[in-house]
Amino acid sequence: MGNEDQREGILFVVSAPSGAGKTSLCRELIDTFPEIGQSVSFTTRSMRAGERDGVDYHFVDHLVFERMIAANQFAEWARVHGNLYGTALNTLEQATEQGIDLLLDIDYQGAAQLKKNCTQGVFIFILPPDLSELERRLRSRGTDSDEVIRRRHEVAREEIAQAVWYDYLVVNDDLTSAVDKIKSIVTAERCRSVRSGELLQQIIK
Ligand code: 5GP
Repeated sequence: MGNEDQREGILFVVSAPSGAGKTSLCRELIDTFPEIGQSVSFTTRSMRAGERDGVDYHFVDHLVFERMIAANQFAEWARVHGNLYGTALNTLEQATEQGIDLLLDIDYQGAAQLKKNCTQGVFIFILPPDLSELERRLRSRGTDSDEVIRRRHEVAREEIAQAVWYDYLVVNDDLTSAVDKIKSIVTAERCRSVRSGELLQQIIK
């Protein structure tokens, strides 16, 4: 049981171009609300140093991923930077049924698929203050080649164009204030009357 009022779990879907600071923001959000679960996606990309299978991702090969697509096991999936990523349907079903709020860190293509099918989701897009700041952050990470950074910069333009249909836009110009904004979104969404039917029943009984 995730909530006192036994409401259905909320899906918080967060997307951002790489370098917008999404990982730090999500980490801070989970520190504040440790009861929010984190969806563990499936991916065909190789494991990076420090990552753990089943914790950061379920790392699978192409064949397994394609079998899962064919068996309709994904709520959404997409090709991102040349690799396949997907959220399993049963991850979402379990969380909503158990009343657990879930954080999904997925790209805009996957978010668009969920937006179509999942009216109760909350869609949040993290924006960098501007594109040159985004490039500076990618370079300072020191993990990507010039070619990769150039490609990510181009992709970032396309991704930012998608921000318009998200429910909330959060500019990450300052980590503390961006975290505050996301915390406020979570709190406000949890208080929405549409999610609080059970709570009203308990109060008036
Ligand atoms: P990374 O390989 O750096 O962990 O993630 C690359 C991108 O893939 C990020 O933008 C991340 O949000 C996205 N991503 C991770 N998991 C999923 C998923 O399950 N579905 C989709 N559509 N994108 C994902």
